[in-house]
Parts: sequence; C-alpha cells; structure tokens
Amino acid sequence: SQTKSNSSKMSNQERTYIMVKPDGVERGLVGRILTRFEQKGYKLCSLQMMQPSKSLLEEHYKDLAKKPFFPGLIKYMSSAPVVGMVWAGKDAVKTGRKILGATNPLDSEPGTIRGDYCIDVSQNLCHGSDSVESAEREISLWFPAGVCDYQRKYDSFIYE
Ligand code: GDP
Ligand code: MG
Repeated sequence: SQTKSNSSKMSNQERTYIMVKPDGVERGLVGRILTRFEQKGYKLCSLQMMQPSKSLLEEHYKDLAKKPFFPGLIKYMSSAPVVGMVWAGKDAVKTGRKILGATNPLDSEPGTIRGDYCIDVSQNLCHGSDSVESAEREISLWFPAGVCDYQRKYDSFIYE
C-alpha cells in the first residue's frame, strides 16, 4: 500500500550474494538457478560473469582457510567462470539459502537447487551468503563499483 512505513520498505531491501559456481556454469544451470530467485519475487540488483582470481576467492572464503578442503575449494572455484548475482528482498539471506539447499547435497531437500541438481559437497553448484553481515561484505568484495539501486514497481504486487 501507499502508507507502509519506511522501515518495512527497508526490510524488503535485505541483500544477498548468490553465485553460480564453475560446475553450474559448465553444466548450463545458470538460467535455472537465476529463475528460482526471480520467480520467488526477489529483485535482481546485479549480475556478472567472471573467472575469479585465487586471491579474490581466498578473501571470499577466508573463514574456511584452515579447513582441509580449502586448497581444493580454491582450485575448483577458480577453474572456470562463475556468475555472481545480488538479490534483494525480505529475508533474502535466509530464504536464499533455503532455495539453495543444505551445503551437502545429500542432505538438501528435493525442490532446492542442490537437492535437485547435484550430489557431492565439493561440487554443489552455488553459493549463498550466510548472514546479512557476510552478504554486505561479499557484495563489496565482488562488486566494488556497486550494484543497481532501483525501485521496482512490481514490488507493490509482492509485498503487503
Ligand atoms: P555453504 O555456505 O553452504 O556454501 O558452505 P560453507 O561455507 O561451509 O562451505 C563453502 C563451500 O566449501 C561449500 O559450498 C562447499 O563447496 C565446500 N565445502 C564445504 N564443506 C566441504 C567438505 O567437507 N568437503 C569439501 N570437499 N568441500 C566442502
Ligand atoms: Mg558459506
């Protein structure tokens, strides 16, 4: 409605960083992954294809630097281009991760991206930020020039 408060409008602008990993690009799943966010009603704020450097990936995954799988993760993630996106909307971080499914695809529910399209944790197709704070850090890291900030007219059909 026209009268909704500014704070509810702000909560509809929560942002998350979603990335199709090299296996998703190679397998031609970019469109299907993107569509799940689009059809849910989230607002696309940026989209880019790039082959990331190891240093960018090491920064992105710095919390995992001590894990035994870290070197393999960086190698896999830098092996081919990725497609990164910023999606905005109410509860975009938590709901975005639900749309992706559990980290280990054998635990991901059918109907989620990982549940439907992959098997091994090391090739789990997609990334989604795990908190609002990580999302903002990742968006600055991957989109240093910023992302599109626009009012979508369609939002009045998505939000109360
Ligand atoms: P996510 O937030 O669901 O992506 O999971 P994490 O942040 O915990 O891990 C980041 C990525 O590292 C995952 O998406 C996987 O690609 C990979 N990963 C996590 N755990 C393992 C593991 O036990 N073995 C291997 N090979 N890769 C893993
Ligand atoms: Mg993570």
